[in-house]
Amino acid sequence: MNDAAPTPSAHLEVSDVVAGYGQIMAIKGISLRVETGEIVALIGANGAGKSTMLRTISGLIRPRSGSITFQGRRIDRMAPHEIVRLGISQAPEGRAIFGRMTVLENLRLGAYQRSGDIDTDLDRVLTLFPRLRERTKQDGGTLSGGEQQMLAIARALMARPRILLLDEPSMGLAPVLVETIFRTVIEINREGTTILLVEQNAAMALQVASRGYVLESGAVALEASAKELRESDAVRRTYLGIE
Ligand code: ATP
Repeated sequence: MNDAAPTPSAHLEVSDVVAGYGQIMAIKGISLRVETGEIVALIGANGAGKSTMLRTISGLIRPRSGSITFQGRRIDRMAPHEIVRLGISQAPEGRAIFGRMTVLENLRLGAYQRSGDIDTDLDRVLTLFPRLRERTKQDGGTLSGGEQQMLAIARALMARPRILLLDEPSMGLAPVLVETIFRTVIEINREGTTILLVEQNAAMALQVASRGYVLESGAVALEASAKELRESDAVRRTYLGIE
């Protein structure tokens, strides 16, 4: 992709979705939208339902009610691989990479759903993450935590998504690496990928996003521009730790 390429449509609409695990309703009627080209942040305390929302969009959890559309098409009854094929790719929390496979093998796996010029995309993601370029032959399991996080994002990008779902990319990383990861998130977006970003690190998320949603106990408590959220007393107190 280059700067001149038009951004592919990636409009995502979640309407009144209820979803959970057995008796637990982790999401109790969430509506949100992501427009093409945006970075949208989903913030909230532990257990607010952020990861569950991403997993429901990816098709890993089927909603009990409500609907999810992508570019006008219902996706909430589709299988995860069909959703990936439409252009939605998730970089999971917890660095779920393949430990016994090399960095290169992990990256190639990210492209298994698609055809086309994989080498060009490999070069692109390795340019985004130079640390991975130095370690292509190393087993995933021997990478540092931060490098594994980079590999999870890079692997999701290999699917050439229209929209990238990022689950806590800064989790457990040293501050300097958090900066690097967020700079890369901005770069990925500039290259034409729409992003829905789940983060505990609300300060960073609201710096890179244009809009955001605050989730509390499985529901949307606040929805506003990132600037408004950064300036909101409730957000400053609860999520930014500023009195
Ligand atoms: P965190 O920031 O801690 O990752 P979160 O906002 O992403 O939190 P979720 O992981 O979506 O929150 O969890 C929402 C609720 O669903 C929590 O109460 C959690 O205990 C519950 N939950 C999550 N995964 C499962 C599961 N596999 N089985 C049962 N309950 C689950």
